[in-house]
Amino acid sequence: MNILIPLADGHPIPKAVMAGICAQAGDNKVYVISRPEPDPTKNYPHDRHMAQCENMNLLKKYASFPYTLYMDRDVVFTSDHDLSDMASWLDAHEDYDAIALNTKNINCLEYKEKNRHVIIACMCIRQLSLDKYTFVSNGNECPCLDLNRRLRIKYLDSRKLHEVK
Ligand SMILES: [Zn+2]
Repeated sequence: MNILIPLADGHPIPKAVMAGICAQAGDNKVYVISRPEPDPTKNYPHDRHMAQCENMNLLKKYASFPYTLYMDRDVVFTSDHDLSDMASWLDAHEDYDAIALNTKNINCLEYKEKNRHVIIACMCIRQLSLDKYTFVSNGNECPCLDLNRRLRIKYLDSRKLHEVK
């Protein structure tokens, strides 16, 4: 699986995150892209959302068949088979575009229904769906809202990942 990590300049990937990636079963490759961090005193969070979408779209060229994982720089896996479990789930559920792991220690489904946001900090997308999708935001809106409108995303909710700062 290809693992794509969008970064803001000056925010390195923590060692615990890299250790979690290295421990994953399977043949995985990591691609990272770093962009200047938007100035929080200007046009924020608009610029942050636009930069996030730009990063995610630039990383798309490293995506390859059949599944691609987008993950935040602070996500630590809790088992050595999280990635292969996501791939197996997508293998078995062709009607879904993506599978995500719960990184927020909340009820993702409830969160999605109440707020329209989806948790995309660790999200594996089917390549055919990713090919057709461009990450967009109107600036003030979190990019996950558009994803939620246009893709079918499920959570492996029993799995709780850590986030480190
Ligand atoms: Zn959101």
